[in-house]
Amino acid sequence: MSLEVRGLSAGYGRLSVLHGLDLEAADGRLVAVIGANGAGKTTLLRALSGLIPVSGGSVTLAGVDVTGYGPERLAREGLAHVPENRLVFPSLTVEDNLRLGAYTRRREPAAERRRVRDRALALFPRLEPRLQQAPGTLSGGEQQMLAIARGLMARPRVLVLDEPSVGLAPRLVGEIFAALGRLRDDGLTLVAVEQNARAAFAVADHVYVMDRGRVVLHGDAATLASDPRVTAAFLGGG
Ligand code: ATP
Repeated sequence: MSLEVRGLSAGYGRLSVLHGLDLEAADGRLVAVIGANGAGKTTLLRALSGLIPVSGGSVTLAGVDVTGYGPERLAREGLAHVPENRLVFPSLTVEDNLRLGAYTRRREPAAERRRVRDRALALFPRLEPRLQQAPGTLSGGEQQMLAIARGLMARPRVLVLDEPSVGLAPRLVGEIFAALGRLRDDGLTLVAVEQNARAAFAVADHVYVMDRGRVVLHGDAATLASDPRVTAAFLGGG
């Protein structure tokens, strides 16, 4: 198991948002987490990537208990986070943003970093001719590609993504999710939080449904896609 979350609780100050959440991502699987606005999806990813403290439960990454680890230590253990607002360093070039993604691998041979970079650029060929541009000059879809490519530069075992489809035209949503599917086919484990349930179901292996800080339903994507509770609330009845 790449990622195991048990009884996770977290929140902001005295506001408790996650109430004992369980989630698993098997090796080489694409797991989607869907849920209404305010269900706690972003909070889950923040807790998983060490951006907010965990108040209960545990997080295990490839058998290592990483509960309470901060972002850099988690990155070194193999977890990369692609945030929703696609935080990129605006004053640096696309190329330098990619280079910063490999920060935790800086002591590894340059040839290895180059190999990882070339693979990320092969996945998103649109980035190659734009390496010397500022990220702000990229389209929304290209910025999302950059954010994912930057996450890949850390050579993660598990990539967690916050709303990869947000604000993108349908064709680009398809392109981004197809790339996530290819990464999964190459053996990466992915956990994507997603508002766009249709896009998530099209590619995910397993889907979790969150409501008010808890998992209320989960299962194999193909099975869950025909569950009336899912079709009614998330897939618009077909
Ligand atoms: P959305 O799909 O709208 O992004 P979400 O499922 O990702 O929703 P969260 O963003 O995790 O939900 O929000 C869950 C709850 O936590 C909400 O009640 C929200 O108001 C609260 N919350 C989120 N971020 C903060 C913060 N930085 N400080 C305080 N409360 C927050």
